[in-house]
Amino acid sequence: MTISPDEHVAVVTGASSGIGEATARTLAAQGFHVVVGARRLDRLEHLARDIGGTALELDVTDEDSVDAFAAVLPRVDVLVNNAGGAKGLATVMEADLDDWRWMWETNVLGTLRVTKALLPKLIDSGNGLIVTITSVAAFEAYDNGSGYTSAKHAQAVLHRTLRGELLGQPVRLTEIAPGAVETEFSLVRFDGDEERAAKVYEGISPLVAADVAEVIGFVASRPSHVNLDQIIIKPRDQASPGRFARKQD
Ligand code: NAP
Repeated sequence: MTISPDEHVAVVTGASSGIGEATARTLAAQGFHVVVGARRLDRLEHLARDIGGTALELDVTDEDSVDAFAAVLPRVDVLVNNAGGAKGLATVMEADLDDWRWMWETNVLGTLRVTKALLPKLIDSGNGLIVTITSVAAFEAYDNGSGYTSAKHAQAVLHRTLRGELLGQPVRLTEIAPGAVETEFSLVRFDGDEERAAKVYEGISPLVAADVAEVIGFVASRPSHVNLDQIIIKPRDQASPGRFARKQD
């Protein structure tokens, strides 16, 4: 990867869709060389061509993949820990252990792996920024959501712990906790069931990925002494993870 000496590098995980893709576009428009990572390389290559960035295959659940990804990065100024998602909706009594493993591997251990691998370069940059996309599910539990809410709570605690551990280092930390954003999130949660996924957003005006990306762009463009610790962003139609004002036809 060739980067000019005055170029700053932003890494966005899970950039093949949704919030990650929109964030990559926003940061590229702000002048960052954006390195986009995810498993679907075809989508990433298309995006990288559009924004003049670099596409790299990345599976955050695989140690070797994360190591190979980190090894080719000449520098890292911004890391957006975005790769993640949910699988299923089930009571604790009926919890699917494989769904739990997927959510914990991707959201929690994925964030840990990537953050550990890139932290030395973020510190070396002299003005690093780590943005982690948690969720309103990192603040509240909801029925049938324990696999996801527990994973997002754990991911958030990992991120918040770093705020203290890195005190005195030139690295800022921002947690972004969105409510309902219409992306491929629900399609993934319900294993490709489009009808069920569409119902999540029925009768409300959900956020779109660009709404969240715009806020991340704001965070990344603050002066280096300003740390925005936590930002919760929800649609006006949503009061809490499970409480919506839905219009009826
Ligand atoms: P999305 O459209 O499904 O995007 C998820 C991204 O994560 C995809 O690019 C996917 O890429 C990537 N990903 C999944 N597993 C991965 C892995 N093992 N390695 C690397 N990348 C992986 O959903 P989204 O809404 O944009 O979600 C982005 C983040 O926002 C997630 O952390 C999610 O939990 C959080 N969030 C979403 C909402 C919402 O309502 N949409 C609300 C709160 C928080 P590949 O499949 O190509 O690998």
